[in-house]
Amino acid sequence: MKRSTETSTSDFTPRAAPDHPRSRRVVAVLDLIQTPAFQRRFFFLAKRFIAGETVAQAMDAVAALNAAGMSATLDFLGEDVTAAAEAERTRDAYFELLAAIRTRNVETNVSVKLTAIGLLIDEDFALANLRAVLDAAANNRDPFVRIDMEGTPVTDATLRVFERAYAQTKNVGPVLQAYLKRTPADVERTVELGARVRLCKGAYAEPPALAYQDMPTIRRQYLREAETLLERGNYPGIATHDERLITAIEAFARERDIARDRFEFQLLYGVRPDIQRRLVAEGYRVRIYVPYGTHWAGYFYRRITERPENALFALRSMLAH
Ligand SMILES: Cc1cc2nc3c(=O)[nH]c(=O)nc-3n(C[C@H](O)[C@H](O)[C@H](O)COP(=O)(O)OP(=O)(O)OC[C@H]3O[C@@H](n4cnc5c(N)ncnc54)[C@H](O)[C@@H]3O)c2cc1C
Repeated sequence: MKRSTETSTSDFTPRAAPDHPRSRRVVAVLDLIQTPAFQRRFFFLAKRFIAGETVAQAMDAVAALNAAGMSATLDFLGEDVTAAAEAERTRDAYFELLAAIRTRNVETNVSVKLTAIGLLIDEDFALANLRAVLDAAANNRDPFVRIDMEGTPVTDATLRVFERAYAQTKNVGPVLQAYLKRTPADVERTVELGARVRLCKGAYAEPPALAYQDMPTIRRQYLREAETLLERGNYPGIATHDERLITAIEAFARERDIARDRFEFQLLYGVRPDIQRRLVAEGYRVRIYVPYGTHWAGYFYRRITERPENALFALRSMLAH
């Protein structure tokens, strides 16, 4: 299974060189969380970021968010699938999920990783699976399907599959990552298409040739792309917990008279619930990304390595057990 070697993207925590002691600690944490014994014993740690392992638990989490004034996007956890049968099982899991959303009548759409539905096997196969998910979503209250963005080895293929799906239905949109040097051109392309974009900083370790590495630059790029999407894009999803960025985007929207129903803030399940509540109270639209399922190691790894405090907390909890 392909694995990214992400380190922190926070300016409080500059990226560590691979032989740095903190990198070795992070690698040790990753090795540990891959083991079945760890996963059985330490699901309680992942629970902060994951709604549960079943569809029913995911529905309960979304219902609670809806009651607090937020919508959601549900992600069936998994990535980097290399067997066709597993990709088809993931596609079928989305059918089950979309049916449950209809039955429970909750306010949510879904997010899909293309490598979970076959992108590493064959692009046409992934597109066929994505189209099947889009068809299944078509009768839902919110038929939109978001394509999560993964590492740069699959950026081009992901955007190609997106555009092919978009040619048939507008209910699909990509994620663009502000840390990538290519992103201004991708933002322009989505503006030209009128497609709905989620803008995030980017969560995968990428080389300096492809991605900005320092937080002030990433933040500057993020703000620039967010402003373009707010002014000329189609209902962008502003996905960040960065208070400085959120404040700057609120100010920009106010100055330019951009109405609160023309965009939404997006945050991750279990991350900065204080900001989630504040934005709702201020009258902004807020969508929470809610992952669920049993394949949580990759997602959990990205969340704990994003912040050294999380990795240390995880290590301390493990040592205490
Ligand atoms: C809705 C949503 C969808 C996303 N989809 C994608 C995607 O498709 N592809 C992709 O590459 N990335 C995705 N990301 C992740 C994103 O790229 C960043 O890695 C992540 O959001 C952290 O960056 P930040 O903007 O929150 O800023 P940061 O500077 O990293 O964080 C700002 C503050 O948020 C809090 N915080 C952030 N992360 C954590 C954490 N893990 N644990 C605890 N507190 C934390 C801290 O208080 C921190 O100071 C998504 C993020 C969101 C919110």
